[in-house]
Amino acid sequence: MTDRHQLLKTLDELLQPDSFRDYGPNGLQVEGRLEVRSIVSGVTASLALIEAAVQAGADTVLVHHGLFWRGQDGRVTGWMRQRLALLLAHDINLLAYHLPLDAHPQWGNNAQLGWVLGLRADARFGEQDLGFLGGRTDGAGFEHAQALGDAIASALGRSVTVVDVARRPIRRIAWCTGGAQSYFEAAIQAGADAFITGEISEPQAHYARESGVAYLACGHHASERYGVRAVGEQVAAQLSLAHTFIDIDNPA
Ligand SMILES: [Zn+2]
Repeated sequence: MTDRHQLLKTLDELLQPDSFRDYGPNGLQVEGRLEVRSIVSGVTASLALIEAAVQAGADTVLVHHGLFWRGQDGRVTGWMRQRLALLLAHDINLLAYHLPLDAHPQWGNNAQLGWVLGLRADARFGEQDLGFLGGRTDGAGFEHAQALGDAIASALGRSVTVVDVARRPIRRIAWCTGGAQSYFEAAIQAGADAFITGEISEPQAHYARESGVAYLACGHHASERYGVRAVGEQVAAQLSLAHTFIDIDNPA
């Protein structure tokens, strides 16, 4: 058992949220009980995750995507009311870490996705150094981007969108989890043969065709399932807490 202050201090020391410019508040987003015994982690603070946390008897929910983002109008209506009502009714703490959880060199989303895909980074690129650049852990390459896409599809258990006109060998691989479409040009600049992220938007298909650098979109949710789980496990072990990662499936 610990308390909310100690848990926050431990997470802040691990993830260093003050060194990022982010789109929403990192750390405590909704205050629940002071005593902390049991954490449920998940990708997004959706109603389904909060319901699962209530079922599991958790006092704390740790997520990558919290409730509050720049540009919201601030009203507590609709989905916001439902999610907040459930958290408050059960006195559950909601802790969210966004970019700091993407970036952590060992436990973050990018590092953990690399681990799952058998990739190791030797460089970082892009805004706030969030992008990872490297190659296969075993030193080999892929014959072409579709082979890389097939490997990702089998590792993540879902389909992967591959845009590849060059069909050339892939050695240098850049990746950035989630909705990192805007990192593609920086990945091209950094010398990648292929770029992996969660989502694709219309312009990136053209950039891929015109640059000859392959673009692979493997799902925002699927690419961000691993960081929050790893961080949850770390802090739970450090503070002797119970921890369960709950995956709420998401096709996007
Ligand atoms: Zn995300």
